[in-house]
Amino acid sequence: MAKIGTRCVHAGYTPGKGEPRQIPIIQSTTFKYETSDQMARLFNLEDSGYFYSRLQNPTNDHVAAKLADLEGGVAAMLTSSGQAANLFACLNICQAGDHIVSAANIYGGTFNLLGTTLPKLGISVTFVNPDDSDENIAKAFRPETKLLFGETISNPGVEVLDIERFARIAHSHGVPLVIDNTFATPILCRPFEFGCDIVTHSTTKYIDGQGVTVGGAVVDSGNFDWEAYPEKFACLCAPDPSYHGLVYTKTFGKGAYITKATSQLMRDLGAIQSPQNAFYLHLGLQTLHLRIVRHSESALKVAQFLRQHPDVAWIHYPGLEDDSQHAKALKYLEGGLSSGVMCLGLRGGRDFDNRFLDALRLITIETHVADCHSCVLHPASHTHRQLTDEQLREAGIAPDLIRLSVGLEDAEDIIADLEQALKTAHDA
Ligand SMILES: *Cc1c(COP(=O)(O)O)cnc(C)c1O
Repeated sequence: MAKIGTRCVHAGYTPGKGEPRQIPIIQSTTFKYETSDQMARLFNLEDSGYFYSRLQNPTNDHVAAKLADLEGGVAAMLTSSGQAANLFACLNICQAGDHIVSAANIYGGTFNLLGTTLPKLGISVTFVNPDDSDENIAKAFRPETKLLFGETISNPGVEVLDIERFARIAHSHGVPLVIDNTFATPILCRPFEFGCDIVTHSTTKYIDGQGVTVGGAVVDSGNFDWEAYPEKFACLCAPDPSYHGLVYTKTFGKGAYITKATSQLMRDLGAIQSPQNAFYLHLGLQTLHLRIVRHSESALKVAQFLRQHPDVAWIHYPGLEDDSQHAKALKYLEGGLSSGVMCLGLRGGRDFDNRFLDALRLITIETHVADCHSCVLHPASHTHRQLTDEQLREAGIAPDLIRLSVGLEDAEDIIADLEQALKTAHDA
């Protein structure tokens, strides 16, 4: 198999003679058929083919196939956002009465999805500290638990998940491990190689990388044996009355999970990515292997600068040798490369923080993270402001935490901007 950079450029789309070199944007809601029977077979899932872009579109499928290839999975689907990807990953195997165990140190939006919105649909969640003992994490599981959830590199705490350990815990309870691999991307970490079963992405971040499209993806390894638990996962192993009693695992084998997510959830919920956005996303994806390395190398330089600065009270970046996450970074992240994201606290208190943020010139204040533009955010005042102090602490977020996302500008210029802003905040 070709190496990952080559697959970043080529996987998922091989044009034939006279066909477009770049993936085409198939901006069409519907697709034409010759006979009534051809259409009927599609609706019976007997033939594969496109019929309506709410369920599937060829442009999206080229990009999804590339992501599946990069992750080492069997199938993938694009969704309209990272939030939709995590929602679909859960709803595809959970219904009212079911339960999820999740690491507590996850992205604020996912924390709200699991902790606030899914419970309204009758799906409950127990958050666990990923550093807690196996025994304590095991206590969170119930007979109705359907999955274990975590993030490869947590947002914003930049903690690296011990994927092998989480996979072992999930499998010993007969459930799949679902991992949001947004910050690591398949270039730095392929969670399936460590026993994870399903990966999700907010492609809005590094995979697009230009800050132009909101999107998400769900990728299945094809490795979880649903049929070993036919009652627990009846949604995949028992007949689906909305497709004349078809059984996903019997008909689609390793493709069961993504086929169900496409033909049932996407059909009914419709959170599809537009082909135009999938095209933009793909432009970024083709250079991901170059960009994520540069992000990581610059971030290490920036982290080394901040670490020795007298105004910096603390800094977390898994790439730093003395960081608590460094050993896991070396194990799980390619070459220990730790993405462009770090978090830090300053010594001067809240007013100092605000003077610092306001004095930045190159680095901008944004809700966003992980694209070519360097940016900062203060989660306690911005993204996580709906969480209580207790929930903030549970999610591993200190009230003074500043998240810094190192972009693709020259590291020297990023460092110079931080230096002048700290000086300005100090002098004011
Ligand atoms: C941003 C983000 C999400 C949500 O993705 P959207 O594309 O904004 O919906 C989910 N998980 C992680 C880790 C993120 O950083």
